[in-house]
Amino acid sequence: MPGLVPSVEVVRTDITALAVDAIVNAANSSLLGGGGVDGAIHRAAGPELLAACRRVGRCHTGQAVLTPGFRLKARFVIHAVGPVWNGGGSGERELLRRTYLSALGVARTEPEIRSIAFPAISTGAYGFPREEAARIALEVLRDHAREFDRIVAAVFTEADLALYRDTLAALP
Ligand code: ADP
Repeated sequence: MPGLVPSVEVVRTDITALAVDAIVNAANSSLLGGGGVDGAIHRAAGPELLAACRRVGRCHTGQAVLTPGFRLKARFVIHAVGPVWNGGGSGERELLRRTYLSALGVARTEPEIRSIAFPAISTGAYGFPREEAARIALEVLRDHAREFDRIVAAVFTEADLALYRDTLAALP
């Protein structure tokens, strides 16, 4: 029965407000914070998050690292570094897929992470085309939904909410 198949929940929200075990940050390689969702997460988590990121050091594109969530409702933050869109000929699609897979892999290392929320990685400052990014993200998340109690795809705009709903419904 379709209702019983674990799936991805698409929610329009500020990801920092979500009461899930872990939120994923669309980080950059330096892990030193930035604009967009990264800035929002650091503001909401407090300065301890930056200190924790400094202790981790760098994170390569396509990979992800775990820190506590500090003042967030979420106990953990998974910092995942998506690719910068550079026309599509530099392996960006595979790198974006790997970024989501890496974040899920990090989540699996912490048994307390049963619910997890993802932003639309790389679709802001990093310029990845939103339609393609949505397809890649939702395909990976749907394929791994059964490993967690809850996977949330957190979108920020009405347009992305419609895009994500349509994309999820149309996945093969
Ligand atoms: P990137 O550098 O990976 O492109 P951005 O933070 O610039 O990351 O954008 C990624 C996505 O996050 C964009 O779709 C943007 O609309 C969305 N976004 C920005 N702020 C938030 C937030 N507080 N909660 C959820 N999504 C957000």
